[in-house]
Formats: sequence, structure tokens, C-alpha cells
Amino acid sequence: MDFIKKRSTGKHELDVVIVGCGPAGLSAGLAAMHHKLKFRLIEQEDSLGGSVYHYPRQKIAMTAPMELALVGKVRFGEVQKEALLEFWQGVVSQTGLRISFHERMEAIEPQGDGFLVKTNRGSYKTRSVLLSIGRRGTPRKLGVPGEERTKVVYRLIDPAQYAGQSVLVVGGGDSALEAAIALAEQPSTEVVLSYRSDAFSRVKAKNRQRVEGLQAEGRLRVLLSSQVRSIHEKTVDIEERGQVVHLRNDAVIVCAGGELPTPLLQKMGVQFETKHGTA
Ligand SMILES: Cc1cc2nc3c(=O)[nH]c(=O)nc-3n(C[C@H](O)[C@H](O)[C@H](O)COP(=O)(O)OP(=O)(O)OC[C@H]3O[C@@H](n4cnc5c(N)ncnc54)[C@H](O)[C@@H]3O)c2cc1C
Repeated sequence: MDFIKKRSTGKHELDVVIVGCGPAGLSAGLAAMHHKLKFRLIEQEDSLGGSVYHYPRQKIAMTAPMELALVGKVRFGEVQKEALLEFWQGVVSQTGLRISFHERMEAIEPQGDGFLVKTNRGSYKTRSVLLSIGRRGTPRKLGVPGEERTKVVYRLIDPAQYAGQSVLVVGGGDSALEAAIALAEQPSTEVVLSYRSDAFSRVKAKNRQRVEGLQAEGRLRVLLSSQVRSIHEKTVDIEERGQVVHLRNDAVIVCAGGELPTPLLQKMGVQFETKHGTA
């Protein structure tokens, strides 16, 4: 925010438009208030929190200590999603931070020495724009026959709703592992975790250990180097090391990451650099 403050000329309607109110946008909004900037913080959804708002019910978030403008040091360690959202809502009421909900950024055009930000609600002339839109994007699909079935979803909301069912979780990141763990902890839920690579390499150690523990207890079946081939009403076909296995299935939860609105961002002049193996 120091950089944005330095750029401000005072001649624009706004110093900065902050797009998105997940943890990053919220923190930026507080910093903008602290620096007494003219700003608008917009969020397309009906709540703050971004990805955290969409975590499964009662999920434990692992957090590092942070410094929030106007609030000071925040040190939670492991905290339940609901408590974190409540804390942020408290911060908003205490500080009077204004968030414009249901407002979606649709375009950003360079204009003079600033930008014109277009949303579904109006247009704003601003010196700077801060994109805090996260990396969730649109959930990545599997592109297999049967994916259009209503039993296929792209995030886990409430593990309890799957009690007693046969559930397939697809993916190998923390969100996939956490979904599989939460489901395997439900009474009599049969959980299979399918991942296309041969190891969970970029996940939190704690999640990996919990998955291994549940596997050892026989409460979770892990299929590495596997790919979903088709989804049927009561079964799924998964190819594992060249062999297709047919599994009983009531629900599929795909946690395969998201696709960013790259074309929209490129149109605005944002440049992308792909770094294979380093991201
Ligand atoms: C299942 C899961 C578990 C996780 N667990 C942990 C954990 O335990 N610990 C941890 O540190 N991290 C965890 N993460 C990652 C963490 O949630 C993210 O790193 C964090 O939320 C990123 O914050 P952000 O503000 O950058 O983006 P986001 O939280 O994604 O927020 C972006 C916001 O921008 C809004 N937005 C997007 N486009 C527009 C637009 N055009 N106009 C207006 N608004 C827009 C979105 O609606 C959203 O509210 C987890 C993620 C997932 C998915």
C-alpha cells in the first residue's frame, strides 16, 4: 500500500480500487484506510473471506502470524474457519471498513495516468488498481463422460452430508487431501482419493501424515498414478497404472484447482510468465 500511496496524485476520483475481499483484499482495505486513501473495496460475493468463506464447515485453517493495519499483530495458529470469519467480521465492524458486496469487476481500461474500472454496478476512475482476486478462479473440470451428473461437485461444504456414502475425491493438493480426511472421519463413509501423480509432493506435512494414518486404519483408499475415465450413476471407472477399476460410487468431489480468468487479465494488460517446475 506504500507504493500505491506514493503513486497517488490526489487528482483522481479514487486512489485505488481493491478487487476481491478474501484475506488479501481485507488486509489491503485496512491498509488503505490506515493511509487515508480514497478507495473502493469490491467483492463479487455476498461475504468477505474469499476461499476461507468456502472452506468445508468447521475446517481448521493453519495460519501464520500476521500484522493487520489498524488491528496489529494477529496470531491464531490453528483456527476454525467460522472463528476466523467472525474475527474478520468483527474487524470490519470495529474499523468501519466499507466493502461493496455483489460488485464484480468486469473490465479495467488504462485512462490517462490511471485506470477506468468497470463493474456490474458502475465505473470508477482511479489512479491504481489492486487485484486481490486469489487463485481460485473457475474450478478445473476433469473433462470425462458423466461429469455433468449432479453427484459431481467441485468443493466439499459439509462432510456430514456424505455419511454412509461411497465418495470419490479427485486431486492431490491440500484441498483434496483435507476433503478426503474430513470425509473419512465421518461414520461409515467409504472414501477413495484419486490423484494422477505418483506422490503428494506439494502438500502440508500434517495432511500427508493424516492421509497415511487413515490409509493404515483402512478408512481411506488412495489411488496414486490414477485417472478418472468415466462417471456413472452408481459407479466410477478409474484407470490405475494401466488397469481400469470399477468402484461403487455415490458422489464425486473434484478438487483439481482452478482456472484463472487469464484472458480477461491479459486484455487488461497483465502479463503472464509460465515457469515450469518452479511455481
Ligand atoms: C480447501 C482449502 C484449504 C486451504 N487451507 C489453508 C490453510 O489451512 N492455511 C492457509 O494458509 N491457506 C489455506 N488455503 C489457501 C488460502 O485459502 C488462500 O491462500 C487464501 O484464501 C488466498 O487469499 P486471497 O485473498 O489472495 O484470495 P481468495 O481467498 O481466493 O479471495 C479472492 C476474492 O476475490 C473475489 N473476486 C474474484 N474475482 C473478482 C472480481 N472479478 N470482482 C470482484 N471480486 C472478485 C472472490 O470472490 C474472492 O472473495 C486453503 C485453500 C483451500 C481452497
